[in-house]
This record gives sequence, C-alpha cells and structure tokens, in this order.
Amino acid sequence: MYTSEKAPAKINLTLDALRKRPDGYHDLEMVMTTVDLADRIDLMDLPYSGITLESTSGLVPQDERNLAYLAAKLLQQKTGIDRGVNIKIYKHIPVAAGLAGGSSDAAATLRGCNRLWNLGLSLEELAEIGAEIGSDVPFCIYGDTAIAEGRGEILTPIISPPSCWVVLAKPTHGVSTGDVFGKLQVGEITTHPDTRAMIDALQTGSYENVISNLGNVLEPVTIGLYPEVYKIKQKMEQFGADGVLMSGSGPTVFGLVRKESRAKRIVNGLRGFCDQVFAVRMLGV
Ligand code: ATP
Repeated sequence: MYTSEKAPAKINLTLDALRKRPDGYHDLEMVMTTVDLADRIDLMDLPYSGITLESTSGLVPQDERNLAYLAAKLLQQKTGIDRGVNIKIYKHIPVAAGLAGGSSDAAATLRGCNRLWNLGLSLEELAEIGAEIGSDVPFCIYGDTAIAEGRGEILTPIISPPSCWVVLAKPTHGVSTGDVFGKLQVGEITTHPDTRAMIDALQTGSYENVISNLGNVLEPVTIGLYPEVYKIKQKMEQFGADGVLMSGSGPTVFGLVRKESRAKRIVNGLRGFCDQVFAVRMLGV
C-alpha cells in the first residue's frame, strides 16, 4: 500500500517567551498558522519492520536522524506494529528556517503511517507521540491556526487569519533554534507581543489588527546574530508589505499583503537579495 501526505510550513504571527523552566525549555505563548508551502511525503508500506528514507534535499539527514524516520520508528515502538515503511521526502520548505519543516515532515509521517498501518489512532494520540519528537510536531499534526503554550505542545485551535498572501524570504544561512533560545534572556525582553490582541484580531477577522499585532521576542536575538534578517525586513517594507515579522527562531522573514500582484512585486524585489523567496497563500479562511 502507498499514501502521500502534504507537510505544510507554519509561521508565527506571535511568539512570546514567558519564563525559562527548570528543564531548560521556555514557557511560550504563540499564535501559529499554516501556509501553502509544503513538503510531500510519500510512504510505501513494507511487510517487515524496516524503515528506509530518502529525500530530494541534501540538506537534511537521509538516515535515522531525519525527524520523519524518528516519527515512524517511535510509532512502531508505541504500537508494537510489525510493519515498516519506505519514506520519500520531496523537500520544498527551506531547512533550518523557522518554518517547522522537519516537524511538519514528522507530523505527516505520523498521520500517513497511522493510515498505512491501520492503527486507528486519533489526532490527539498522534500529537502526544509527536510531542516526544519536537515541540512543534503537535501543531503540525492538526495544522490550521492555533494558540500554542507550554513549550509549544499545548494547543487551542482558533479561527485562521483573513485570506491574504504571504511572502517568505529566507537568508542564505540557517539558524539553530537551540542557539537562539540559548541566547534569549527573558528578563531583558523589552517588548512582549500582545497575544490577547492577536487572538481578538483573528476572532473578529480584522486583517489590519493582525498586522498591527505581529510580534516575536526571538527576532532581536536572531538579528543580533544575523543582521541580514533586519535588512530583509526593511526591504520587504520598502517593497510594500503591510506587516513584516521573522518566523519562529528565524531566519525566515515573512510579509503579509492582500493582493497577489503586490506579493509578486515583493518577490521580484527580493530576488538576488536572499537565498529563497516565495509568494504563497495563507491556508485558512
Ligand atoms: P523549527 O521552526 O521547528 O525550529 P526549523 O524550520 O527552524 O524548525 P528544520 O527545517 O525543521 O528547522 O530543521 C532543523 C534541523 O533538523 C536541521 O538541522 C535538519 O538537518 C534537521 N532535520 C531532520 N529531519 C529533517 C527534515 N525532515 N526536514 C528538515 N530538517 C530536518
């Protein structure tokens, strides 16, 4: 048997860090949403418990270190199933970019193997297993838009942003999420995003209020490491984005616009200035 799953990227409309926990993680408060840029994960059932993996991108591990491989392995262990899978990843999401590409591949593998192996697990059960792989995996199991708390695994679904276009611009380098959180000093954060105001903006369907409440406390930290992120933000604004923010721990910067023509203009303006640039739709309402 064979199945194919879409693994979409996410962006953070807000990312706030409330405190550092004794276990080393931060307690976060984020509003995350899914965009129409996705990897494709093809899964082929194997009649024995082996797992094989290949990816179209040389930038991700092609072995048991790949998060999709880890997901299939963990699902085997949790359920005791004696079947395997051949995983092929068609990579389109930039790697180490703050777009949760690896987490989304892991989530898609959990969803796909659940079907392939007829396990009958609920999305809640898959999200619980996914949380052992990474903090963003539970969000990627459900997709759409959610408020994420704890280290990102406690989710409350919320209405998606009003329909718009998203320009994603990834600088040449990648960023290690661990490095960025390692440099974050919660006590020194000067501006926290107003998560409540972002939630209200979504609930009232106000594009303008979504724009005015974008915020990410990791942005100054990543800009300190890679000033190029700030330059890309400036360029996006110059070319006409309504709102601009770095996603996750970065370095990808996204810009929101209403019209496709404006999104295309920003993409053309940024070409040559950054490694990868895309105009995609926000997935949702
Ligand atoms: P997040 O926003 O969740 O922190 P990210 O978008 O910043 O994630 P990823 O693209 O998920 O970063 O990659 C993070 C690291 O995980 C990279 O160093 C990469 O080598 C490794 N990795 C393992 N499996 C995958 C995968 N399937 N896709 C992408 N990266 C993977």
